[in-house]
Amino acid sequence: MMTDNIFLKILNKQLPAKIAYEDDRCLAFHDIKPQAPVHVLIIPRKVIATHDDLTEEDRELVGHLHLVAAKLAKQLGVSEGYRVVVNCRERAGQTVPHLHLHLLGGRDLAWPPG
Ligand code: AMP
Repeated sequence: MMTDNIFLKILNKQLPAKIAYEDDRCLAFHDIKPQAPVHVLIIPRKVIATHDDLTEEDRELVGHLHLVAAKLAKQLGVSEGYRVVVNCRERAGQTVPHLHLHLLGGRDLAWPPG
């Protein structure tokens, strides 16, 4: 498992990011290459490489990340329709090995996704 990655650097303030929200358990920041008018990434401070690495002990944390996503959707004005996405592993498009929720909104979102 890679422990040193871009998101860890953002968490440790070694790399700048446009922060949308932070608390003791997570950090949310705007995606550098937005795929929608609103595209925010919500990441836990805890190092978890992929969705598949979640354990029982993360149950509450995952709920918290989703509640933050809903709060941010409201704050950023997209609560009329938004998507929360987790890409798990390379085959699903995961490029950074630190669990993250994508919050996408501000445009019509097609289904099924690519
Ligand atoms: P994924 O492909 O699901 O792993 O998502 C990784 C996301 O991180 C992509 O949408 C990238 O555009 C985004 N990203 C990569 N580097 C940065 C960065 N330095 N600041 C903000 N977002 C980033």
